[in-house]
Amino acid sequence: MTIQLPSPLTRITPGWRHADTLTLYVKRDDLIHPVISGNKWRKLAPVLAGLPDSCTGMVSFGGAFSNHLHALGYACYCRGLAFTAIVRGDYRSQPTPMLQDLMAWGATIRYVTKKEYGLRESAAYLNELQHAFPTHIIIPEGGSQSAALDGIATMIEEILTPFTFLLVPVASGATLAGVASALGDPQRAIGIGVLKGEGYLESLVERLLSVPRSNWHINHDFHFGGYAKRPAALREFCEAFSRECDIPVEPVYSGKLFYALKSLVENRYFAPGSTVVAVHTGGLQGSRKTVI
Ligand SMILES: *Cc1c(COP(=O)(O)O)cnc(C)c1O
Repeated sequence: MTIQLPSPLTRITPGWRHADTLTLYVKRDDLIHPVISGNKWRKLAPVLAGLPDSCTGMVSFGGAFSNHLHALGYACYCRGLAFTAIVRGDYRSQPTPMLQDLMAWGATIRYVTKKEYGLRESAAYLNELQHAFPTHIIIPEGGSQSAALDGIATMIEEILTPFTFLLVPVASGATLAGVASALGDPQRAIGIGVLKGEGYLESLVERLLSVPRSNWHINHDFHFGGYAKRPAALREFCEAFSRECDIPVEPVYSGKLFYALKSLVENRYFAPGSTVVAVHTGGLQGSRKTVI
């Protein structure tokens, strides 16, 4: 398995208004692996490190572009574990590059209706699934469970440069929860919601934190209309940012994160002299048009 750790911490000096009053870094978790998405790898690492001998495979859930299913499918392939992916919707006639990768790695794909997918957290459904796969470990959607927080914490431990603010995208909240539990005083975590979820996203983070913390909040101004919505202004920003900073971004997660960073910098959200780290969580595989 070719996972590269620690991921680099790259300084950026974009020509944004007021950027020259700050020190800006990008934590390049997108470089952990050529295709595996950074934060999904971090979230899975503690689970993979502690697998019981009795485990012969994994079962998990996701959409047709899921960075999580992709990372988990690859990990299972590398370890000779079976993998069953429960996918929302029927893509048998048009599998996405992500699904084609899973098939190439020997995964079993079970396409389910939206209705069945909706049961993915129900205790009765999970019980049934565990009976059907007695020697498999069932991992929740997005790999978001309390064990994932320790994996995210390793990302913070790798940052040896002092900083005050750290920005991460938020979907299921585990990355932000992991970051919030790992930061020290007076560091602050700012989550950028990538979907419309004011209140809901906060509740997800709170549910994952074993000890409540007040060093984080979520900014809801940059979801661009909802999950995976990609209006022209966002797509153009992604292209311009990739070119200017030589860091590839996609519109679902990192594009929204860096758009938010630019806006906060230009609006003087950060006091001059601050050091700000934006975490590039990866995700480029999801916007691919081709298979590996
Ligand atoms: C899943 C994902 C996120 C969101 O992380 P959560 O822990 O679900 O909030 C961010 N970036 C990328 C690239 C992802 O794949």
